[in-house]
Amino acid sequence: MNRIVDLRSDTITQPTPAMRQAMATAVVGDDVFGDDPTVQELEARVAEVLGKEAALFVPSGTMANQLAVRVHTQPGDEILVEAQAHLYYYEAGAPAALSGVTCRCLNGTRGLFTAADLEAALRPADVHFPPTRLVCLENTHNRGGGKIWPLPQVAEVAGAARQHDLRLHLDGARLWNASVASGVAEREYAALFDTVAVCFSKGLGAPVGSALAGPLELMQRARRFRKQFGGGMRQVGILAAGAWHALEHHRARLAEDHRHAQRLALALAELPGVELDPATVETNIVRFQVRRQPAAAVAEELRAQGIWLLATGPDTLRAVTNLDVSADDLEWAIGGFRRVLHA
Ligand SMILES: *Cc1c(COP(=O)(O)O)cnc(C)c1O
Repeated sequence: MNRIVDLRSDTITQPTPAMRQAMATAVVGDDVFGDDPTVQELEARVAEVLGKEAALFVPSGTMANQLAVRVHTQPGDEILVEAQAHLYYYEAGAPAALSGVTCRCLNGTRGLFTAADLEAALRPADVHFPPTRLVCLENTHNRGGGKIWPLPQVAEVAGAARQHDLRLHLDGARLWNASVASGVAEREYAALFDTVAVCFSKGLGAPVGSALAGPLELMQRARRFRKQFGGGMRQVGILAAGAWHALEHHRARLAEDHRHAQRLALALAELPGVELDPATVETNIVRFQVRRQPAAAVAEELRAQGIWLLATGPDTLRAVTNLDVSADDLEWAIGGFRRVLHA
């Protein structure tokens, strides 16, 4: 078989044998009736890790984010979100479609913005303007190249939001990566937000699943909207067991993905026509520009060599290290990058 190293995303991982075993033997029940003990255990554990009252297991990160938007707002409200944020950029227009809200975008730097940016976007109470309700942050920031929000900057933005009575939501699909890389615990970040979304199917390597965490009253409302959005699931403890396994066994190892990303970045930065500052690679996402050919053409040539990655813009490529890419895979892939980009 031809060798393939898949760097398209950290979502492409296969469940490990131990994870499949945990899933196969999970005790399950009908979770819409509240009967699935494995889901309940996972929700309690997620709430504990994030230091929140309650959590809700959901099929996708998109649903976790959109449930948050739904519980914090009413139709006609405005939410503030960074222009490249997943919640706005990659969720198929869901804030408008599912919650009837408008998004007002802040232009960040690699996904991060400041309290001053937030203040500048706020408008006075006036019948002409939609009421602003919610501010959303993303940590790590996907399109920002896995950029970590420093805790003091989050605190500053959160402080400004609180002064204006705004709610705060964190898209923490890769909060695990931010914590492992920065040493700031998930709960320290989470404490600054009303609600937090996390994913088990990104770097943690579970096949399916995300969670939303926050105050009990909000999570009870979110449970009703989850049903309305079509996310009420039955014997879903099978999936929750995979998520549990991922949470308990695959968090610390994210450091390995980060080392691999750094190694890849240093190797790519030396290649002709590649624009990449390895210092910008903080977690498991390596974004770089190519100057000699369109990104899509480079991606196609790499694919022919067994190296799979995504063109995320006309001249931008993205490689994401993950659970299924070993140190040996990475060295092999670096050889392929050299062949293609030197040619
Ligand atoms: C992947 C991702 C999500 C959720 O994506 P789903 O595919 O819906 O699970 C949310 N936020 C960020 C930042 C992501 O990278």
